Amino acid sequence: ARDAVARRVTELVRLVPDYPQPGVLFRDITPLLADARAFADVVAAMASVAGQVDLVAGMEARGFLLAGPVATALGAGLVPVRKAGKLPGPTASATYALEYGEAEIEIHPATITPGARVLVVDDVLATGGTAAATVGLLRSCGADVVGLSFLVELAGLGGRAHLPGLSVDTVLTVD
Ligand code: AMP
Repeated sequence: ARDAVARRVTELVRLVPDYPQPGVLFRDITPLLADARAFADVVAAMASVAGQVDLVAGMEARGFLLAGPVATALGAGLVPVRKAGKLPGPTASATYALEYGEAEIEIHPATITPGARVLVVDDVLATGGTAAATVGLLRSCGADVVGLSFLVELAGLGGRAHLPGLSVDTVLTVD
């Protein structure tokens, strides 16, 4: 069944060369989101990797679209991991290196009870920088990160190496 879902992801995630900049092969998930059956199947597959969790953390912006339904499927709450400057605060933040420059992410730490079991959800695992920073930020707020669930893993970029000791699941892995 997971193979069939992975096939639908291959069919419905559109490949866009040189977007948003030259050299990037962008994975556009909007055709998948628009397909009711495929969307539901993907959410179920992404939720099935975790046992009991208290919270699902989703990365801005496409991670939100998957983390919300994954959270309700698991009977868990949702923690939006936002780009800096979007949350009213008080916030906890983490910065991490990008290819050019750096990025900053924020959460509301008051929404994380100490020891809360948290599953991290995003659409694409690329270099792993965003995911690793998210895990570090959640842990600094007292979360017990129980794993990460991605729709697509770009394995050639080696993102998993930045997530040592963590359970990392993906619906579709490509080179
Ligand atoms: P990274 O920190 O390099 O693992 O990048 C992960 C973040 O960038 C995720 O939030 C993805 O949504 C986005 N991203 C990276 N590469 C791609 C890609 N080829 N297509 C779509 N989104 C991407």
